[in-house]
Amino acid sequence: MAKCLKKIRKSKKHRKYSKKCSNAGQNRPRGATRHHLVPRSRGGKNNSENIKVIDGLPHQLWHRLFLNWTPREVIKALKACGRDFFIRDSKELEQAWQYLFGGRSDEAVIECIKRDWSPQTTVA
Ligand SMILES: [Zn+2]
Repeated sequence: MAKCLKKIRKSKKHRKYSKKCSNAGQNRPRGATRHHLVPRSRGGKNNSENIKVIDGLPHQLWHRLFLNWTPREVIKALKACGRDFFIRDSKELEQAWQYLFGGRSDEAVIECIKRDWSPQTTVA
């Protein structure tokens, strides 16, 4: 694993966000974790429509990039400012972005977030 990714996984902020959202009290960087698509701290529900079961690493990287923003807010900022808004000249965040979205264009990333990272009931 790249050094930057290791650093991300160890960061305090990161652990804080991933803990909030994954299974209570379990710090599992690998294996299935439960991600709330709309964070509970932002009014997201604790039901199956709002929960995505994902591996610990992409889960952590998502929160590293987008903190506890809602998918709608992420898409809005992405449309307005592009990915640089989230990457903020950070090599770590650039790697996190690459890991999650690969070489996709910003438009394709928006489609990916709508499809894979949003509660389907709120995406019309
Ligand atoms: Zn999460």
